[in-house]
Amino acid sequence: MNIIRKWSWLVIVVTVFSLIFMAGCSGSKGVQSGSKDSAGAPLTIKVLDVGQGDAILIRTKDQVVLVDTGDVPARDKLISMLKAQGITTIDKLIITHPHADHIGGAADVFKNFTVKQIYDSGQKTTSNLYRQYLTQIQKKGIPFTVVSAGMTIELGNETILKVLAPETPFIGGSEPDLNNNSIVAKLVYRNFSILLTGDAESESEERMLKKDAAILNSTLLKSGHHGSRTSSSAAFLQAVTPEAALISLGANNEYHHPHPSTLKKYKEKKIEVYRTDTDGTLTVTSDGKTYTITKER
Ligand SMILES: [Zn+2]
Repeated sequence: MNIIRKWSWLVIVVTVFSLIFMAGCSGSKGVQSGSKDSAGAPLTIKVLDVGQGDAILIRTKDQVVLVDTGDVPARDKLISMLKAQGITTIDKLIITHPHADHIGGAADVFKNFTVKQIYDSGQKTTSNLYRQYLTQIQKKGIPFTVVSAGMTIELGNETILKVLAPETPFIGGSEPDLNNNSIVAKLVYRNFSILLTGDAESESEERMLKKDAAILNSTLLKSGHHGSRTSSSAAFLQAVTPEAALISLGANNEYHHPHPSTLKKYKEKKIEVYRTDTDGTLTVTSDGKTYTITKER
């Protein structure tokens, strides 16, 4: 009898402590520094530190998704970062637009991983990199879908990407403006969302605002065009109202990104800023209610 009573007490004490511990860990957003094991989270988004460029890894319980592939000088780093995550297959590769700092690592991604499906903005350009990208896709016979506003891409486990841009006719008319016709998509997982903007600038922001400003509202924002002055317009930020902005960029880059006026706007709107040049890879995890942002350094 005594032994049973002792065990009952132990169970009660352990349960109470577990409840207190769990209450302390949920219900609010958190920011952490240093490496954190994100395995097991239903949703992980890594804004990879690829210097000046974009490469964003999204993992749901069911799928591995890569948005852009960084620039050519960072391609080896990109491949080793993906391999370090134990990745062998990329279910969906999304190329926001065909500039070098977004497609530079694509050829190496095709060489090292099985890519099951590509989503592309449908914009063409004359660069060698773009030609190589298309050639590889054709050679490997990878299914290729041109996306436009209104489409939804399923990422598994209740996670979806709502495509908000581009739309045809493309901005810029006969000579499309590659940045402004970037794929912009809102990732939604239950109550959590992040707006992925590629290099969309104010013309694209304006078009999306006119069409449906309410849909832009997101928990987090991946800053458009590496935090340039031509993106993150005041009206756009007002519609998105993110709690934090994540900027993907290289240290001391030649474009002087991010622009001080953009950082000022974030500060005025009390939007926290995370940037890969100083913080390294940024890891966002979410359970659909709350989220945590972890800095690599
Ligand atoms: Zn770019």
